[in-house]
Formats: sequence, C-alpha cells, structure tokens
Amino acid sequence: MLPVVIAGGGTVGLATAVFLGHHGVPSLVFERRHALSAHPRAMGISPRTLEIFREVGLGEAVANAAVRSTLMLRADARTAAEIDRTALRAEPVVPFDLSPETPAGHYPQDHLDAVLLPAARERGAVVEFGVTVTDVTPGGRVSLSDGRVLDAGYVVGADGVHSRVRSALGIPTTGPGEIGDTTVNILFHADLVDALGPMPVMTAIGHPDAAGVLLSVGDNRWALHVRGPLTDEECTAKVRTAIGADVPFEIVGALPWRATARMAERFRAGSVFLVGDAARAISPLGAFGLNTGLADAHNLAWKLAAVRRGAAGDRLLDTYHDERHAVSRFVSRQAELRWADPSLHWDTTAVAERAAVGAWERTMVVMGYRYDSSAVVDAVPEPPSTEDLSASLDGAPGSPLRHHWVRPGVSTLDLVASRWTLLAGPDAAGWCGAAAAAGLPAERLAADVARVVGVPPAGAVLVRPDRFIAWRTAERPDADVLVRVLDRITDRPARALSTR
Ligand SMILES: Cc1cc2nc3c(=O)[nH]c(=O)nc-3n(C[C@H](O)[C@H](O)[C@H](O)COP(=O)(O)OP(=O)(O)OC[C@H]3O[C@@H](n4cnc5c(N)ncnc54)[C@H](O)[C@@H]3O)c2cc1C
Repeated sequence: MLPVVIAGGGTVGLATAVFLGHHGVPSLVFERRHALSAHPRAMGISPRTLEIFREVGLGEAVANAAVRSTLMLRADARTAAEIDRTALRAEPVVPFDLSPETPAGHYPQDHLDAVLLPAARERGAVVEFGVTVTDVTPGGRVSLSDGRVLDAGYVVGADGVHSRVRSALGIPTTGPGEIGDTTVNILFHADLVDALGPMPVMTAIGHPDAAGVLLSVGDNRWALHVRGPLTDEECTAKVRTAIGADVPFEIVGALPWRATARMAERFRAGSVFLVGDAARAISPLGAFGLNTGLADAHNLAWKLAAVRRGAAGDRLLDTYHDERHAVSRFVSRQAELRWADPSLHWDTTAVAERAAVGAWERTMVVMGYRYDSSAVVDAVPEPPSTEDLSASLDGAPGSPLRHHWVRPGVSTLDLVASRWTLLAGPDAAGWCGAAAAAGLPAERLAADVARVVGVPPAGAVLVRPDRFIAWRTAERPDADVLVRVLDRITDRPARALSTR
C-alpha cells in the first residue's frame, strides 16, 4: 500500500503521524528543518486537546510536558525584579468537570514536539529532517528537495502558514493575512527564581523599553514576547531591561512572528489534505490556533485509516473539508471578535456583550462546536446554548460525546477507544445485541450516565471514532437499521466487518 506522506514535522504534522499510527497507518514525515524547533511558540492547550492525547496513550507524557507552577497567577510589573511577591499566591488547579482532563499549566510546543516525535516513530512513522517538500500534485505525487519523487497514497500538508503544498495545488486563501505587529519571541536561560524569588507563569512587563510578556517555559527557560523586529543587541538589551536586575542570562534564540488570519478555501484537493496553519491561521487571542490544528489531524486520521483499509468510501474524506472548514470559519470569526475586543474572551460576565456580536463563551469555542456533514445523520447544528457547555453536550447528532465517569478512572470518552461504538440506554440491552450483529462494540450505560450524556433509556447513540455523535435513536433495536446507518455514513463499498 502506498504511504501517507506528511509535509511538515511541526506540532500538527507530528501529531498527524501519531494519530495515523494509532489507527495502524504508517506515514512518512518530511521536515525542512534539521531538528525540532527549540522555541516554545503557542502554549495554551484545551481540555479537548488533552482528551485526544489521552486517547492515543500520551496523556501522562503530555501531562509531564506541562510547565506547572503553584503560582499560576499572572502578574503585572515594571520588571521581573519589581514583581510584588507578597501578592503572589498559589492558585490550585480546579478539576474541570466536563472533561477527564484538566490543563495543569501550559504546554510549550517544543515540549509537545519532544513527546510527539518518539511517539510517531513508535507508531510506525518515518520522520526525515532536512528534507523540503518542493511540489505536490492532487494525485499524490510528491517532489522532495533531495531529488526524490514519491507516489503517495495520500498527502497531508502540515507545512504551516506559508504552505508550499497549498500553493502547489493552487488553493486560494481568504482573510486579512498578517494582522498584528511583528512580535519577537526571545528565548533565554536564567535562574530568575534563585536570583529574584518566586515567579508567576506569566508577567506583563510594563517597562517602556521592554514592554511585553515574560513567560516561564520550564527548566530555567523564559520567553520574552516583545514588539520587533530587533537586532541581536536589541534582544539582549530587552531581556536585561525586562529582568530589571543584574542576573546572568543566555539567549538561546529569537523568533520574529506575526499574528495571521488566513484560511484556505478548500482543505482537500484530490488525495491531498491541509491541516493546521496550512489550512488556516487564526489570530492568537484565545489560543485557538494550535488546538484547532490538532483537532484537524484528529478528524482526518480515522477517516484516512478507514478509507485506506476499505472500511469506508472516498466520500467520507470529503467530510474532512465539510466539517473542519466550517469549524475553521467559526473559530476564526470567534478569534476575530476577540482580537477587536479582548473582554469578550476574558470577562466571564460579558454574556450580553457576547450575545450582541455573536461571540461564544471560550470553552464553548473549543469544546462545544458541532459537525454537520454526511458523516452525521440528522445533525442538530446549533447548540442549545452558546455560553453553557454543560447544556450543549446533550447527545444530539453532530455534538461531541459528553464526559462522565462511568467508574473510577474510566470516562464515557474512554468507552469509545477510537472505534465506532454504540452506547445503549439502560433499558436497551437489545441494542447491544444489534451492535454485536453489526460488528460493533457496544456498552449499556447505567441510567444516571445515560441521562447525563443524552442517550434515550430504550434507545442508543452511535459514536464515531473521534467521539462525535453520528446518530441517535429512541427506536427499538434493529441490527439492519444500524448497518444501513453505518453504510450511509461511511459510504463503504460493501458491508465491511471491521469498523474500527
Ligand atoms: C515563530 C512562531 C511563534 C509563534 N508564537 C505563537 C504564539 O505566541 N501564540 C500562538 O498562539 N501561536 C504562535 N504561533 C503559531 C503556532 O505556533 C501555530 O499555530 C502552530 O505551530 C501550528 O502548527 P503547524 O504544525 O500547523 O504549523 P507550524 O508550527 O508552522 O509547522 C509547520 C512545519 O512545517 C515545516 N515546513 C514548512 N514548509 C515545509 C516544506 N515545504 N517541506 C517540509 N517541511 C516544511 C516547517 O519547518 C515547520 O516545522 C507561532 C508560530 C511561530 C512560527
């Protein structure tokens, strides 16, 4: 079988390789850099993203990659030396009850990449550094900078905001493009805690000569985000000023970056798919960009795996564009509204203000959106609330399955285990039999669990491998109906027994 080629070994490209490998699909990743990037870049990871890592067995490794602090507080100070340390207090991590996972700090991308690279290799991916993808055709022919030309079964363009894959396919983009000033992310080593005392995770530095944000990125590393462009000497001066005391430091590197809002008009061309920033770049307020990119990869991986092994037809792959392009439009709009008015994001009480402009509450943006495509039967695209995630995870077709503990340490989400799964109501033992006849795993839920996740007592919900609800029924058990629903959703050529 021809390999899946992934252009770009950034965080989303490596995650795509992990997710494909998790579904038994090996991939070839080509990354033009010679090694992983040492820069922390984006750091905010949502509970939904942590759920995805949990699913593929990386929950613990990603948790260990977090930069934690008992002082989660954000401080405002002229310089790091002038932080009012008497005001720093511990902020315990409060478990988020709508997910089995609660972010416990922040997750620098270089820490994530260090988890994802070996995980991808362990799952069968070959990752080559120092190789640029120079051309791609819609038929899957890939040209590389070292002269090789490969015929790939499928190609995933994970090559970032200036995607070569996207331009080779002639896919136009929409959106304003670069929207912010140039920021320089200066990464440096210093023992600030030893020299200055406790440090919060984030400090807004107010000194006029170094105004910006100072972030703790673990292991005595710090990232100072200031306006650029800057020369090397200017970077050194900014760091010295932002520290505000005679503390030795060593600059590791400085990356200029501009917030960008741009979206590809199509996420699929023939056998080629765009994920991450190659598909769409989102302005940073809200930390939606990386989370959205990882959700692209998660959506695509199970579909590609199913089509490759003949358990689904090509039309299922069209739903990648249908679902993720619609989500991208939605999330981009949410980010745009926040860019114009940050209080829509940060002010939890600004419910009326959000409603007036169509902004959703922030956890709703990453965890409450729904899919409406041919991979969902009778989708209910609008959630009942744009503010209350708990009300919106109601078991409706197209919505994400709601987390609820079914026994200690086991979430409803864990029951799905990356396969099509039928969750039956407490009075619907017959649906478990129907699922077995259709070759599907099934689980009968206790009454309290079924009520919370929206499974009818005598009915069932069919959950996709990515834990979105594909179909809900209150009718009596019928294996033939279930098979027809699966045939319709997966567009499978003939009844395929494997439904993983
Ligand atoms: C310098 C920088 C700073 C950032 N800072 C922030 C921030 O502070 N906050 C925030 O929210 N977001 C930030 N971002 C954005 C965030 O990092 C992205 O949203 C996220 O990385 C998307 O991941 P990706 O894998 O899709 O793309 P990328 O991280 O851009 O990865 C793409 C990868 O593809 C490789 N590549 C490109 N072209 C080719 C090719 N033709 N062949 C082979 N390989 C190729 C690149 O070398 C790169 O490793 C920053 C991005 C950068 C680049």
